Amino acid sequence: MRKIITTPCPHCQQPFLPRRRNQRYCSDECRVEANNAVAKERYATAKQSTPQLEALRQQVQYLKQQLAALTNPVVDQPVVIRVVKESKDILLYEGRRYKRGPFVGRIDLGVRLDPGVGLLMPGNTILYPDDSARNTHFNYLLQP
Ligand SMILES: [Zn+2]
Repeated sequence: MRKIITTPCPHCQQPFLPRRRNQRYCSDECRVEANNAVAKERYATAKQSTPQLEALRQQVQYLKQQLAALTNPVVDQPVVIRVVKESKDILLYEGRRYKRGPFVGRIDLGVRLDPGVGLLMPGNTILYPDDSARNTHFNYLLQP
């Protein structure tokens, strides 16, 4: 006597007789609904912000900045710019860090550099006033 094997549908739980060997669901309807439920759950999980996702976002942001620094067109004449002084040794300009380098003595630039204003020089360095009254400056170098 041949045994009739039925199997429960993983979506509607109703037992059914498979017509094909690899048939998992009782009907096309159940198969489509089950697949939609999986897709919905994957979408909901992907939408949640996890610490890993946040770390990845920050890493992408950092890499973008690095790329921008590498592809930044090098100025061929000094350009007056606004900078942010992060610390005694670090200037920020367009999201990039410049570290204080050599001291530059008294020079006449033809422009007055007040605190917060620097001169972007050829070679990606920034000339920034040490003491604007005495016209002394420091050279800040772009950090890799
Ligand atoms: Zn079913």
